[in-house]
Amino acid sequence: TQLLANKTAIITGAASPRGLGKATATLFAEHGARVVILDLDASQAQAAAADLPGTGHIGCACDVTDRTACLSVIKELIGTLGQIDVLVNNAGITQPLKLMEIAPENYDAVLDVNLRGTLYMSQALIPHMREHARGSIVNMSSVSAQRGGGIFGGPHYSAAKAGILGLTKAMARELAPAGIRANAICPGFIDTDITAGKLTPEMRQSVLDGIPMGRAGTAADVAGCALFLASDLSAYVTGSEVDVNGGSLI
Ligand code: NAD
Repeated sequence: TQLLANKTAIITGAASPRGLGKATATLFAEHGARVVILDLDASQAQAAAADLPGTGHIGCACDVTDRTACLSVIKELIGTLGQIDVLVNNAGITQPLKLMEIAPENYDAVLDVNLRGTLYMSQALIPHMREHARGSIVNMSSVSAQRGGGIFGGPHYSAAKAGILGLTKAMARELAPAGIRANAICPGFIDTDITAGKLTPEMRQSVLDGIPMGRAGTAADVAGCALFLASDLSAYVTGSEVDVNGGSLI
């Protein structure tokens, strides 16, 4: 069954070839969705969209920290595509800093992309979703929010990702009467470009020792969760944070 047949989904930060956003875009396309990839660079976004299964996918430049850009891209997309059903706020950055190393500009950068971007993109699309009385918003948080730190993110990353959890729940509460759902995904240790090659074999093993399932996650593991939350399979799920971490918090 194609879970997103006749649906249109926007995914931010999905141009990175081995990233979680691209894997989510690919699975959504396999499930019949028309996918819009938004990322910083137009040609990379277009190349990523062209790489998806099926036809009709679009790649556009959009810096999610730029409110005007978010509003104008969404306006244009609604004009060309008609109804938009799903928004995945996946764009995110991290910086491996310790508490006392965080300079004001580090704090701004990490909070801006992760947290401000999630708000701006959602605000741009919510009036449209309200009109249609339907929509699913999926926000990418992290195990770092729940554990107060991860392997790669600093405290500002934990703060931004924890902020996303609060924002998601508040959005879910406010938007539920309008027929719009909002949920967050908390990925654990996932093999992507961020994680590849940055750990010694010993460090990697010690991370894996803390994961009951004994393996790192894959981008496809996260995509599967995003598909569930985007589709009507999760029609009665809102305001939830779904852990995709191999049991790391058990
Ligand atoms: P990635 O770096 O591969 O992809 C992030 C993408 O976001 C890139 O394509 C980048 O160009 C884009 N981006 C950055 N700033 C942007 C902006 N201002 N506007 C638009 N796009 C922007 O990262 P990933 O590993 O695929 O992570 C995706 C999401 O999942 C992030 O929010 C990340 O914090 C989160 N996450 C990742 C892991 C992991 O293990 N990889 C774990 C937990 C959470």
